[in-house]
Amino acid sequence: MRVNLWLRYAVLAVLAALTVVAFFKTPPGASRPFLVHEPGGIMGTDTRLVAVLPPGMDKAEANAALNDATAALRWIEILMSTALNHSELARFNAAGIGPFAFGRETLQVLGAAQRLYEGSGGAFDVTCGPLIMLWQKAGELGRLPAPEEIRSARAASDWRGLIFDDRGIFKKEEGLKIDLGGIAKGYAIDRAMERLAGAGCEGGLVDVGGDIRCFGTPMETNLWQIGVKHPFEADAPFARLGIASGAVCTSGNYSRFVEIEGKWYSHIIDPRTGLPAGAAASVTVAAPTAMAADGWATALSVLGPKGFEKLPEGGGIEALIVTGTPEAHEVHMTEGFRELLVEGPEL
Ligand code: ADP
Ligand code: MG
Repeated sequence: MRVNLWLRYAVLAVLAALTVVAFFKTPPGASRPFLVHEPGGIMGTDTRLVAVLPPGMDKAEANAALNDATAALRWIEILMSTALNHSELARFNAAGIGPFAFGRETLQVLGAAQRLYEGSGGAFDVTCGPLIMLWQKAGELGRLPAPEEIRSARAASDWRGLIFDDRGIFKKEEGLKIDLGGIAKGYAIDRAMERLAGAGCEGGLVDVGGDIRCFGTPMETNLWQIGVKHPFEADAPFARLGIASGAVCTSGNYSRFVEIEGKWYSHIIDPRTGLPAGAAASVTVAAPTAMAADGWATALSVLGPKGFEKLPEGGGIEALIVTGTPEAHEVHMTEGFRELLVEGPEL
C-alpha cells in the first residue's frame, strides 16, 4: 500500500517534471527576481508564464501562483474548446434548440462576443461555426466547397440565430454552432493573469502561442519587450513593443491556414461572404485586456485597415496590420500603436 503510494508520487513527480520547465533567475537588466513556467499541452500551442516576486514572496508561493494560473488556462480550454468533445461548448453545439444553461465564464465570453459582433459590423461572429467547419473539411479533402454548400453554411451562421432568455440560450435553428476560437484564448489569458495578481505577484506575464498579457515588469526600463512575428518569414522579428501593462495578440495567416488546390486560405472567415478572409496577412492588436486584443485581431483580419475606424473610441485598442504578399507588403498602424514601438517598421 505504502509502496504503491510512493510509486504514485514518483510517477506524478516525473510527469510534473516533463510538463513544467521552471527556472528562476534575475537576468541582466532585471531588477527583480522572477520565476518562469512552461507547461505543455494547452490549446495546442506553447505556453509561458512568468511571476515577478515581491520582497517576501518565496519560491514555493510563486510556484503555487503559476500552477494556479496554468489551471485557469486549462479550465477555460475544457469549457470552450471545440476540439474537445465534452467541452461545454461542444455539448451546446451537439444539443437541440435549447434552452442551454451556460456557466458564468462562457456567458461572459458570449457577452463580449456580442459587443464585438456589433462593434465590428458583423465581421466578428462566433456563430460562424458551420462556415469554419465547412472550410476545415475543404482543407482536409483538398477541394473547394461548392457554392451551394457555402450558401447553406452561411445561412446557418448568424448571431441573430441565438436567443438569450432567462431559462438559458436557445438556437433558432438546430444547425447553429458557436466557435469561440477567435476570443476564448484571450479570455483564458486574462483569467490566468488575475490569478497571478491575486496571489500577490508584483508582476507577471502570460503567453499562450504568442498572445500575451503582462503587468509589473521586472526590468529596469519598466517595460516588457514584446516581439511581433514577421508575417512572411518564420521566426524573424518584425517589430518590438514596449508595454508596461496590457495585452498584445496576433492573428496571422502564416501560422494557421488551409491549402486547397495549391492556394492558401485563411482560417478566419468573412461571415458576410462565407469565404476565408483575405484583407490582411497579419494583424497585431494591443489592448487593456487579452480578450479585447484577441477578438479585435480576428475582427481586423476580416475588415483590414478600413476596420481602424470601427475601433471603440477611448478603448485603448491599437493595431498594426500587414497587407499584401511577401513580394510587396504594406504596413498600416494606428497612431497609438506607433507610440508602443521600440523597434520596427518606420521608426
Ligand atoms: P489563433 O490565435 O488561434 O490563430 P485567432 O485569434 O487568429 O486564432 O482566431 C482565429 C479563430 O477564430 C478561427 O480558428 C476560428 O475558430 C475563429 N473565427 C474565424 N473566423 C471568425 C470570425 N469571422 N468571427 C469570429 N471568430 C472567427
Ligand atoms: Mg483572435
